[in-house]
Amino acid sequence: MDRRQFIKDLVALAALAPVTRIAAKAGADGDKSSDITEGLQVTRRPFRNTAQTVPLLGFGCMRLPTLDGGKIDIETVRKMVERAMKAGCNYFDTAYMYHGGESERCMGEVLKAYPRDSFYLTDKMPVWFAKEADDIERIFKEQLERCQTEYFDFYLVHSLNKSNWELAQKYKAYEFLSRMKKEGKIRRLGFSFHDTPEVLKTIIQSHEWDFCQIQLNYLDWELYRSREQYEVAAEAGVPLVIMEPLRGGVLASLSPDATEILKKAAPDASAASWAFRFVGSLPNVMCILSGMTRPEHLEDNIKTFSPLKPLTDDERKVLDEALLAYRKKLAVPCTACRYCMPCPFGVQIPRIFGIYNQYKASGNRWQFNSHYNSLPKSGRADSCVGCRRCVQHCPQKIQIPEMLAKIAEEVK
Ligand code: SF4
Ligand code: SF4
Repeated sequence: MDRRQFIKDLVALAALAPVTRIAAKAGADGDKSSDITEGLQVTRRPFRNTAQTVPLLGFGCMRLPTLDGGKIDIETVRKMVERAMKAGCNYFDTAYMYHGGESERCMGEVLKAYPRDSFYLTDKMPVWFAKEADDIERIFKEQLERCQTEYFDFYLVHSLNKSNWELAQKYKAYEFLSRMKKEGKIRRLGFSFHDTPEVLKTIIQSHEWDFCQIQLNYLDWELYRSREQYEVAAEAGVPLVIMEPLRGGVLASLSPDATEILKKAAPDASAASWAFRFVGSLPNVMCILSGMTRPEHLEDNIKTFSPLKPLTDDERKVLDEALLAYRKKLAVPCTACRYCMPCPFGVQIPRIFGIYNQYKASGNRWQFNSHYNSLPKSGRADSCVGCRRCVQHCPQKIQIPEMLAKIAEEVK
């Protein structure tokens, strides 16, 4: 998307905002911070061209509050859900393995206090848990049972990358889930995604998907090729749910120099609010998930999303400046410009650096392994033969083979 189109979309979005807000309904939980946010209602966006609306802020259930010992603190979840519902934040996103299956059970228990048509419950099919096609049906039934529900409002094939997509095809996951949709057990069918824009294009064109979920934030916009993924979905007319808008919390607490730049521009705005507003400025975004672990996170988010104000051009410049300061602190200062490509030996240089930076920023080794292992063997760091042809093309002067050797060593 070029800059002119981006601005056009922002203007269209600004016009859309007032009509997509729903009527306010007061609520109180006695919490001081909620006094400030009392009566606020989060921005809603239409689902495609239908009358259905979805809150722009979605309640991610992957990092629920826990007690000492790691058990989910269900009473705090209950209060947070009550607060979220009052603010119109009624999209709850769980998955089979979140909190070892306890997230689904917890949300089933908490949400049964509300009329079934007053909230959206989203769940996901982990195809890598299946050993044969029948397991897809078994897992789906188990999820309905755990969540104490007759149907899911939104349902995704979970974490598709090249290899999980092959598994999904092998076990005919889409075919089974489409059948569930026809039977009314799924209302909207989509998939969540972690791979290249090229793989996304293949998957998105394979079926009639209702929506798609990708990782997107201002750091990954170029680094992780989120911009290209956004464009693939926008071109296909598939609305997006966004995960990792704060990149695992990294964008909620930037480096001191980057934080200083944001604070100078808006002393009262949290770093997280900048990140959410960046994502919310994109018109093809239907819902932004935030894994809220504490009630304060929810209150801060309600403030940011009621209503969500798209970034102005001046604010965008401030964010660019903060991003520049932050990126200087990254493990590899790769900008994903791809001037070093193609490597004659097939090494996927910017992709490797992107997922390595992501790992260093988030500390999430599981995610790193998953992304790294989805690369073809010839594309991995240990396939570099040290010919140094790439180095002369790198405007960041990165010593690419040495850095790849370091990463290959760490992968071991
Ligand atoms: S040094 Fe390594 S990454 Fe660079 S071109 Fe040669 S083989 Fe490819
Ligand atoms: S040329 Fe340098 S900055 Fe650009 S993608 Fe390659 S390694 Fe990254």
